[in-house]
Amino acid sequence: MKINLNPNPQPASDSSREEKIAAGGFGKYYTDNMMIAEWTEATGWSDAELKAYGPLALDPATSVLHYGQEIFEGMKAYTQPDGGVSLFRPTANAERFNKSATRMALPEVPVEDFVSTVEALVKQDIKWVPKNIGESLYIRPFMIATEVGLGVRPSNHATYLVITTPASAYFDPSKAVTVWISTEFVRAAKGGTGAAKTGGNYAASLLAQKQAAAEGCDQVVWLDAVEHKWVEEMGGMNLYFVKGHGKGATIFTPKLTGTLLAGITRDSILTVAKDLGYPVEEGMISTDEWRDGVASGEITEIFACGTAAVVSPIGVAKSAQGTWKTGDGEPGPITMEIRNHLLGIQHGTIEDKHGWNVRVK
Ligand SMILES: *Cc1c(COP(=O)(O)O)cnc(C)c1O
Repeated sequence: MKINLNPNPQPASDSSREEKIAAGGFGKYYTDNMMIAEWTEATGWSDAELKAYGPLALDPATSVLHYGQEIFEGMKAYTQPDGGVSLFRPTANAERFNKSATRMALPEVPVEDFVSTVEALVKQDIKWVPKNIGESLYIRPFMIATEVGLGVRPSNHATYLVITTPASAYFDPSKAVTVWISTEFVRAAKGGTGAAKTGGNYAASLLAQKQAAAEGCDQVVWLDAVEHKWVEEMGGMNLYFVKGHGKGATIFTPKLTGTLLAGITRDSILTVAKDLGYPVEEGMISTDEWRDGVASGEITEIFACGTAAVVSPIGVAKSAQGTWKTGDGEPGPITMEIRNHLLGIQHGTIEDKHGWNVRVK
């Protein structure tokens, strides 16, 4: 994919950009430019164009607006100690994007084109990458079905875009997340789209999210669709359970059954935990085992992980069956150790032994 650079002739002024970066939050402000490429069944991918960030003009009958045929990714660029900027495991995002594409009957973007379009956009808008630890430039590549027509069929036209937004550290170490374990709604069933990063999964989750909020909880924990018993994920994040204390602790995560989203943070933590000397285990955990484990003290810490928040400690779990607290409800020491180690690698303050960081500058 050739990239044509046609950057925004009126980028934000230094002061306006600095203000927007300092405002923090997540997804409030977007950078000066975006990347776009078009695909048709007949001609394949067009060149990509880097151009000013701005609205899309879509025919009201564009298929994505009706049938939700779309996929997305979430990844980050981090400032390095020498002032450079790195992407974290961009190839893993590219590969997952294509798995999602296949499941949603959309065309693949060649891995090298995915990475080079992301790199070119970050390079162009490099001044937007925040500088402090925990801060980053969040990158959102996505693809939408853009055939015009209401017929239900795989679209013969697709549009690939990349947009970026400065993200602050929205981690408050004093506050562990409270979760609502939903037994009424399900996120994903075998044969469905749970392993694909597609908007429909999120649309279907919002009513449960509303219910969680009404129960005084921050996030929803999803169980398997058949027995409503096996713990799968939390919102848009994967879950980890720490069993035991100190260096003898085991780091456990629900295994990928085909209904979970294979998080790149989840995968990175499997490696980081081993590097830190903890045995790791992937398996099944039921809500009963969760309740009994925190009651007996066998489960000492629970946390969620994903690109956006990196690691979020989980304190209290609520369900229709009751309320259970992990430890003292505060972020645990192993959770913080893993979080700080992973963030350290991403920010270049801890050695990147696995070659995960890809420099753009
Ligand atoms: C994106 C996502 C995750 C986390 O994946 P990362 O690659 O770690 O960001 C977990 N669960 C769901 C449902 C997701 O969409």
